[in-house]
Amino acid sequence: MRKIIIAIDGYSGTGKSSTAKMVAEKLTYIYIDSGAMYRAITFFLLNNNHDINKLSEVEIALKECEISFDAEGIILNGKHIEDHIRSMEVNENVSRVSAISAVRKKLVLEQRRMSANKGVVMDGRDIGTVVFPDAELKIFMTADVDIRVERRKKELESKGMVESKELIKQNLIERDKIDSSRKDSPLRKADDAIEIDTSQLTLNQQVDKIVQLAKERIHES
Ligand code: C5P
Repeated sequence: MRKIIIAIDGYSGTGKSSTAKMVAEKLTYIYIDSGAMYRAITFFLLNNNHDINKLSEVEIALKECEISFDAEGIILNGKHIEDHIRSMEVNENVSRVSAISAVRKKLVLEQRRMSANKGVVMDGRDIGTVVFPDAELKIFMTADVDIRVERRKKELESKGMVESKELIKQNLIERDKIDSSRKDSPLRKADDAIEIDTSQLTLNQQVDKIVQLAKERIHES
């Protein structure tokens, strides 16, 4: 059966990652969390006290970052860092790091290399517009901001992190603003993407909808 690329973009906290992961499981595709890659670079820069405002410093530091994935999540320079990349400190800096073109250039190359054999579900902000403009299926996810805050709060709590709704909301809005207004690869819906508002949908409903669309595309000649 032919394999396709499924690009899932959208605002922060719309459930892209959980949805993409389950879609990949149902289709036995590879799931790639591109946001985790931007978070890993941000974590590395912060952890090594690099100044994210100094471009030359970031460019040198980038050469020291090797990213891969296994079943347990993202690996940076041989270490699993999944537990460290969802912190509020990373949340507060990741969109500024992601706006740096050198960072994007490195990660987009990696994302394309990881997807060379297709059969991939990748979620992010620029997957349907920049990374895979020819993806066979493009989804753009949106949801009401207060619902996104609720979901993010629960997700953080399930990882043992407690944050106020106000702080979470502020961060989601701030990231969406920076991600949508940056010069390089801003977050926007690709012209040929299908928009799904997940405000009133359960995770299973979102997943079923995308799997159905994917099956249609897979069987198209
Ligand atoms: O998807 P997630 O919320 O984990 O992404 C974290 C941040 O990484 C986003 O707010 C955005 O700044 C950046 N990102 C990006 N391009 C992608 C994926 C994520 O700029 N393809």
